[in-house]
Amino acid sequence: MDAFQEWLFKLTGKKVSMRTLLIALIMILSVFVFFVKRAVDSSNAPPRPLPGAVMALKCSSCDYVEDRRIVDIDEAKCPKCGAPMGYKRKCMDCSFEFSYMPQRLKNLMKTEPNRFKVLEALAVEQACPNCHSGNTESMFPGSVDKK
Ligand SMILES: [Zn+2]
Ligand SMILES: [Zn+2]
Repeated sequence: MDAFQEWLFKLTGKKVSMRTLLIALIMILSVFVFFVKRAVDSSNAPPRPLPGAVMALKCSSCDYVEDRRIVDIDEAKCPKCGAPMGYKRKCMDCSFEFSYMPQRLKNLMKTEPNRFKVLEALAVEQACPNCHSGNTESMFPGSVDKK
């Protein structure tokens, strides 16, 4: 028994084999990596729903808003005017609600090798069209006012 195992023995009252310890360590590490990865993904990535997730949408052309189960945002069309739908976003500074279209950014990502330019474009796309504030947030389902 080395000193560390001895310490663990005192702590748990059981003799812990190195193998058990290693498995436990790997498990803790993978859980940790999973949570860190999830936190990083959700803070950096543009909102990308899981297939079939219900999202708050807004028409890119008219005032139509809807909570809809979305598989592919590229195929979502406004039932009122036929224009492509975007994700509903709200400006935290002036309360203006607008449609954020990840389609434009997706196309840019294919052609623009400079990632900084892509990030710049993301900031522009997500900025408020009313007051140009960058302080905007995507809206969750249920935020659509039923009139
Ligand atoms: Zn429309
Ligand atoms: Zn604004």
